[in-house]
Amino acid sequence: MADGKTTRIKARLIIAYDGTEHRLLRDGCVVYRDDTIVHVGPSYEGPVDVDVDAGSDLVAPGFVSIHSHLSNSPLTKSFREDSGNPQFWMSQLYEFLGPSFKATTLDMGRASILASFLELLRSGVTTVVDLTDHDPEETAQMAADVGLRAYVAPYIRSASWRVQDGREVHYDWLTEREEADLFDRAVQFVVDHDDSHGGLIKSLIAPAQLDTCREPLLLRAFAAAEEHEVPISIHAGQAVLEFHAIVQRTGKTPIGYLNALGLLDPRLILAHCVFVGGHSWLAYPDDGDLALLADSGAAVAHCPIVFSRYGIALESLPRYVAAGVSMGLGNDTFPQSMLFEMRAAALAAKFVERTPLVGTARDVFDLATIGGADALGRPDLGRLTAGAKADIVCYRTDTVSMAPLRDPLRNLVFSALPSDVARVIINGREVLKDGLVPSLDEGDIAAGIQQAGEELWGAWQKFDWSGRPIDELSPPSLRPWVAPDPAATQVEPLGTTS
Ligand SMILES: [Zn+2]
Repeated sequence: MADGKTTRIKARLIIAYDGTEHRLLRDGCVVYRDDTIVHVGPSYEGPVDVDVDAGSDLVAPGFVSIHSHLSNSPLTKSFREDSGNPQFWMSQLYEFLGPSFKATTLDMGRASILASFLELLRSGVTTVVDLTDHDPEETAQMAADVGLRAYVAPYIRSASWRVQDGREVHYDWLTEREEADLFDRAVQFVVDHDDSHGGLIKSLIAPAQLDTCREPLLLRAFAAAEEHEVPISIHAGQAVLEFHAIVQRTGKTPIGYLNALGLLDPRLILAHCVFVGGHSWLAYPDDGDLALLADSGAAVAHCPIVFSRYGIALESLPRYVAAGVSMGLGNDTFPQSMLFEMRAAALAAKFVERTPLVGTARDVFDLATIGGADALGRPDLGRLTAGAKADIVCYRTDTVSMAPLRDPLRNLVFSALPSDVARVIINGREVLKDGLVPSLDEGDIAAGIQQAGEELWGAWQKFDWSGRPIDELSPPSLRPWVAPDPAATQVEPLGTTS
């Protein structure tokens, strides 16, 4: 918004950035002009056009989610939970992902994107990275219309996975022409859309997965990211099968392979890097993957919820951080909620290390803000300080979930609910107010994603490798009610038993 107006938000609690770290500023103000914060401190004496009294709200920087697939999730909700196949080391990539992509129409993808937007905003996310098979132009336009800051990237790849007998994962390799078409389209998207819509929409290069990209494609992708000065993101270390496929092909771990290609650098965001040498599921020694990552400055997009559902954990968040690995948080699947993702990251770290002293509120909040922003090379995001973008979130504290409040950050990380998000400002524009996003009608969005879900479940059988209906692949939690046979269930009237 370039109306030149200066807005001052006064609040009792502000998570302010002092140039080095987040600190708690009591009784202060955040002042922004157009899309940029011009002052954060106890008071501001300059001219102000709009004064906002946020009262007892907690004012915090917007979250930066550095990994998601908005057109695909939450569409896969309600059947991916509680299921997994030991044949594929519990990863659902191989049996679930192919059919769900094939069965998803543009309309279904749209419904999923809108539902994601609402969930993201209601969890304080102001920047999202979306790696997508959906029409990227449309995704970018939809994000701009809602006012969400987004990094959008169409996937490039050389192959897709296929399961044909329930035992093995096959790679269906594209022709070089098909691969080149995907690559050209992705680069053209960067050229056309990076830094569009007043800087709200940016782009990156996204080779889909390390095991589905030929080496020349990886090299070209990295060269393109460098040439166009955009980030690059790839899934790596996300499955046991992928880890061993790379070891088989190259004699190196996924991280070792990227390092040997010279591709580990600060421009790179690796999702999810769970399976590095030394992980307890691998029976492969720790041969220095974390040190390679730390030295390179490449960042890891940590998405603990989706892996927790598989029974898989990063080993561990404090270990990666202590090794010096740059880390940020992403939502990947569902919920597209940074509040829940931070909580999961904290709890997973405590479970894995068997101590409450790690995975602190401070640790995961840093990841969800500064960590993600730094991974994108954006020192102007994820923090409230003069010169940063005006991406600001106000959380109510007068709610049962947020009270009693002594340590605002702990309450935010461990107890806040989406309903506590009172106001979201992105690029100086108020996108959510009083808990509502004017441009997104929840009733319509819920109906849209319900319809999309029903279409997906109905179409599943067509794309499943053995033609299983969705209820066979993912049996419902509750068996359907069957009326009892009245003759078999004669009950003595109360008081007649001796
Ligand atoms: Zn992903």
